[in-house]
Amino acid sequence: MRMDRRLFNPVIEQLSRSELEALRWRRAHATLGRVYATSPFYRGRLQRACVTPDEIRTPEDFRRRVPTVDKLAILEDQHEHPPLGSAIAVDDALLEYCFLTSGTSGKGQEVHAYTAADVSDSLTSWAASLHWAGVLPGDTAYHMVPVGVTAGPVTLLAGFQHYGLRTFAVGNMDGQARLEMMRRFSPHFFSTGPVYLRRLTTLCHELGIEPRRDFPALKAIKVGSFGFDVPWAREMEVFWGAKLIDTYASTQAGGGIASTCEHGTYLADGRRGLMHFPEHKVYAEVLSPETSEPAREDEEGEVVLTSFGREAMPILRFRTGGKVVFKSHRQCACGRPFDGIEAGTVSRYDTMLKIRGMNLWPEAVDAIVLAHPQVDEYNGRVEVADNGRELARVMLCFKPEVPADAAQRARVLVELRAQIKARTGVAMEVQEVQPGEIERFTYKERRWRDQRRQTP
Ligand SMILES: [Zn+2]
Repeated sequence: MRMDRRLFNPVIEQLSRSELEALRWRRAHATLGRVYATSPFYRGRLQRACVTPDEIRTPEDFRRRVPTVDKLAILEDQHEHPPLGSAIAVDDALLEYCFLTSGTSGKGQEVHAYTAADVSDSLTSWAASLHWAGVLPGDTAYHMVPVGVTAGPVTLLAGFQHYGLRTFAVGNMDGQARLEMMRRFSPHFFSTGPVYLRRLTTLCHELGIEPRRDFPALKAIKVGSFGFDVPWAREMEVFWGAKLIDTYASTQAGGGIASTCEHGTYLADGRRGLMHFPEHKVYAEVLSPETSEPAREDEEGEVVLTSFGREAMPILRFRTGGKVVFKSHRQCACGRPFDGIEAGTVSRYDTMLKIRGMNLWPEAVDAIVLAHPQVDEYNGRVEVADNGRELARVMLCFKPEVPADAAQRARVLVELRAQIKARTGVAMEVQEVQPGEIERFTYKERRWRDQRRQTP
């Protein structure tokens, strides 16, 4: 076997495509059998579809006959069988951790239970991504998302520590304090989002910080599956003197699912790069939403995941809602056999917005604001404030018959702000505008605009 320091798992990463497909299918088939035998939720769904694992002999059978499942089906099952639902496939005593998903679709939050092995799998899910980017155990890392609100930031931070990074969790510091820490303890790597990376770049200019001079050891910056353009990625890499890493994660499938390799987010010819799926750990399908057939090269589709390692709550053909562009392994020069998805273009099929790490479904805000008897209409905006913080703003107008009593109107705004925070987990600014200043909607349309990418 070739010794190649780029590789994290040399045996797997040097398989041929057909060897990998054979391994992946053996594991998918074994997962199907195990889930059928141990998880009442999935067994019921398979029985209703008249499917037994023995009849599923090929990937083609798997795709055509094994039903997909989505977030709503899991939520409904958890309502019917509280608190954890009937998907649990292990003895209750083995459940060591429970997380709620971040945010709510207005229909409640899913619970995800983990065994010790699930936790360990989730912590190691970032290791290949870090290794491929040249980040090594012992390197100094900064984790910039506040910890403690949702499962994602907690498991990411623990994942960095598990990999052996000396990690500073600076999520609760302001930008200047973070940069001062970074001057004191020079970083090899940090993890943030594109919006905040723009803000940090502006702050560096203001404070006279030149990352190439002041952070000479910096190798990589993880920007994590938010949209960005290639010229912007190139500009950031030149300014910071570091490679950008893009990743795709799924709470349901237990953490990091796809990542760019050493070739990064774009190729030498300016085309976008590719995030590889770890196909020895997950059966990742990218399916056209119209036909449910696999997306072809460079075609758009939804990510559907089957995770081989999840013990407590298996994931069998879970529709993630992630809207991606499929890329075969042949499009990347690294030689790994893993297919993947395009870097920098992941979005959603549903209306979900990600705000400061929290998932927000605009319908949940509609349900609160439009239910208020004095509110006539509202528009929502997500933008970036001057301090680099992502800001959600609700602009509403009152019904014509509501008295022009400033104190009473202000009370309504305060009341709505508290209800939105309590029910969605996202703090928002709520302000009154005049009827002509916002768009009106007759049907169930998108009242929200995401203006984060327009912000310089
Ligand atoms: Zn590659």
